[in-house]
Formats: sequence, structure tokens, C-alpha cells
Amino acid sequence: MTTADLAVRGERVLVDGELVRATILVRAGRIATIEASCDPAASAGVGRVIDAGADIVSPGFIDLHVHFDNPAIDLADDFHVGTANAALGGCTFVIEHPFSTPPTTTAERYAAKRGRAAAGALVDFGLWGALTEPSLRELDGQRALGAVGFKAFLPDNTMGFPPASDDDLREGLANTAREGGFVLVHAEDREGLRVAIDRERAAGRTDCAAVLAARAPWIEVEAVRRVLDLAGQTGGAVHLVHLSLPESVDLVTAARARGVRASCEATAHHLLLDCDDFLRLGWRALCAPPLRRRSDVEELWRRLRDGAIDAVVSDHCPYSLADKAPAQANALDGPFGIQSAREFALLFLDEALRRGWPLPEALALVTSRPADLCGAARRKGRITVGADADFAVLRIGGEQPIDAEGQFGPDRWSPYHGRPSTVQLRSTIVRGRPVVLDGRLVEAAGPGQFLALPVATPAAMSIGGL
Ligand SMILES: [Zn+2]
Repeated sequence: MTTADLAVRGERVLVDGELVRATILVRAGRIATIEASCDPAASAGVGRVIDAGADIVSPGFIDLHVHFDNPAIDLADDFHVGTANAALGGCTFVIEHPFSTPPTTTAERYAAKRGRAAAGALVDFGLWGALTEPSLRELDGQRALGAVGFKAFLPDNTMGFPPASDDDLREGLANTAREGGFVLVHAEDREGLRVAIDRERAAGRTDCAAVLAARAPWIEVEAVRRVLDLAGQTGGAVHLVHLSLPESVDLVTAARARGVRASCEATAHHLLLDCDDFLRLGWRALCAPPLRRRSDVEELWRRLRDGAIDAVVSDHCPYSLADKAPAQANALDGPFGIQSAREFALLFLDEALRRGWPLPEALALVTSRPADLCGAARRKGRITVGADADFAVLRIGGEQPIDAEGQFGPDRWSPYHGRPSTVQLRSTIVRGRPVVLDGRLVEAAGPGQFLALPVATPAAMSIGGL
């Protein structure tokens, strides 16, 4: 006899890094018991049972890097659309970046965004804080509200988010050394990029090839090197977002070896697409840093397999078709970003399997490892007693093409449209509540909640483990 609200059972449930037969009993949104059997007797008396059969039961995916804000509509709608697509891709927890309109640069704006976003969210979410001139005095306030990391953007941008200077970075990193948490950095060299963009423009080049010429590899590598030096000087912790080059990852690895507290992530698009895809796909694959040469993509996969990259993320940017249209004539000025909240994890897993990875190893990069990095590990990223009952149920085998029309919301486009995938999402369950069943959204209004991320004291943080 049991008092569980829900049982999820299957022959291949990811527990402790292995796919095993299990029945998970859920009570009040948390995992209460894990039985080492998928026999119906293990869930006798439970009102609702989800039987995954031979499908994979994974912890719900975690996407550390999304942008949901679209100034054309209300923030609650933005989070509704964004988290609906995340749920359709198996995500149960996402962390959103502070480039809202206006940017989330103060504790007051952080608190306001937290409240409005929760009104529309279908999956749980966190919010990164901001590190930029107006918010340097606001780091402690943002941290107290639930920000474990603060985003710094180095290049000029059109998002009203002031680029961080070296002094800003130094001050912010020193703050994290004292108070905990870390600084997230979009690393592209501001001066170098400014000169290169002017050069391309002066020559009358604004197409995709001009983007590749202006945002050359050294623009990223140089910025990564400088940020890691500043982290070393200050004792602060840094997380490099969307590293696109093996050289950048190697700099992080070397910095860790000399005691710098550093971590990094790669986007699915830098692992799945290359610069030839960009020239073919145009604005749909326009992002910053840009897509790289095939040889770089292959080397990035090697770093990923070696464990040098801590998480795979979407860097989802939900630009409308109207927003993106100008890039057809002028790619140099953007807008930069790919919308892939729904597709990124499934396609990453598909590609990892094609490359012969064991599935649990690939799943770790979208579950347990990002959970450890952002401080959510007590509740998210693993199927373990006491954790939130967050699951993604996957069917593997039988290729199906990605269809951008399957996205939720008014602007459906994808650089992956037509790409075959052997990994399909069946169900997404958030704290015991099904949000997607049989591949379809079943929740109109969300069970998503804001999750304040705990900040480990600097002494408790391990190198690279944050
Ligand atoms: Zn981003």
C-alpha cells in the first residue's frame, strides 16, 4: 500500500548514471521512493501511473542559457511561449539571461521580472543577474533574490546592455571571490570586433561571409584569455558562455589547472552546424560567436567527450521573423541568435548517439552537470530520492525530421528544419505534473516556479565545479 500521487516506471530509467529498470514514486512533487523494478506491483494503489515501457526516462533537461524576452509582447507571454518550447524539448528547468527590456540590471528589476515571468512559466526557471556598470552596486541585492551568477557582455550590442569594461569585470569577479557565485561572460573582444566590423562595412561587405571575417576566431580567444587572467588575479569565479572554439576550451582547461575557478558551456548549434551551414542557411543560423569551421566543430566534440565542457545549452533567442528579416540584407548588424529551446537537447543527444557515445554520458551534459554548475543539484538534474520529480521521457530509434511548425508560438523557424533525429520527446513532467504527454502540450497555464539558486560560499566551491 502506498500513498504516492504518481508513479513513473520503465525498463530504462537513468539512475546513478545507468539505465536500469525502475519505478519512481512521486509524492507532493518530489521523488519519494525508487523501486528497482518496473513490475506493476511496485506501483499498486497509485492513482496515476506513467509507464514508459522501453522508452528512456531521463531527469528533466536543464538549459542554462535561454533568452525569452521579446519586447513586442508581455513578459508573462514571453515566458509562456519560451517555456512551452522548452517543455516540448524535454526541459524542466531553464535559466534566463538579463537582456530584457529594460535589461535586468538592478535588484528591483530582478524582483519584478521574477514575479511577472512566473505568471506564464510552464517549467521551472531561474534568472541570471547582471554585471554591467549600473548593476555593480546591485550584485549583492540580486544574489539575495536568487541570482547565483551575473552576466557580463563584452562587445558592443544593440540590446541596451552596457558592455562590461575590464574594471567592471575586475570588480564583479572580486565580489564573487568575497560573496560567492560567479560571473558569466560573453567573450568577444570589443575593440577588435569594432575595428573588424568597420573594416567590413567600409568595404561594402555585410553578408554572412562578412560576419565570419569580422568575428574571426581570435576575437573570441583573446577575450577568453583576458577574462581568465582577470579571474586568476581576483580569485573570482567565471563561467564562459557559448565557447565555440577548441582553443577557447583549452584556455579554460589550462586556467583550471593553475587554480582559476572557471567553467564553460557549448551551444548545441556550435556542435551541430558549421560555417558552411551558416552560408547556406543565412539568417536562420546567424549567431554570435558565429558557426565555425568543420574542423573546429570536430575538435569541440573531442573536448566535450574529454569532460572539458560543463554543459550543453541552447542560447535560445526567440526573434520574430520580422526581427530577423533585415539580416537577409545585412547580416553584419544581426540580430544574432538561434531559437532552439525545443530542439537543442534532442538533436545534441541524436548527434552524440550517432558518434557512438553511451547515452548516459550525453544525458549528463543536459542534466546532472548543468545542475551541479548552477547550484540546483539538490533538486534538479538527477533521479534521486528527495529531488524534484522532473522527467523527460524519450523514444530513441526511427528517424523523424525536425519540423519547425511543431514549435509553440507565433514565430516558428529553425535552422534545423528537415534535419532527421532519432531522438523524440514523448513526455515532460515538472514536479510530478505532466506538461507534455505523447509529444503534445497538455498544460495551458503553467506549473513553472521561480527557483532561487543557492550560493555556495567561496571556500566550499571546488575548482571548475562551482
Ligand atoms: Zn545568450
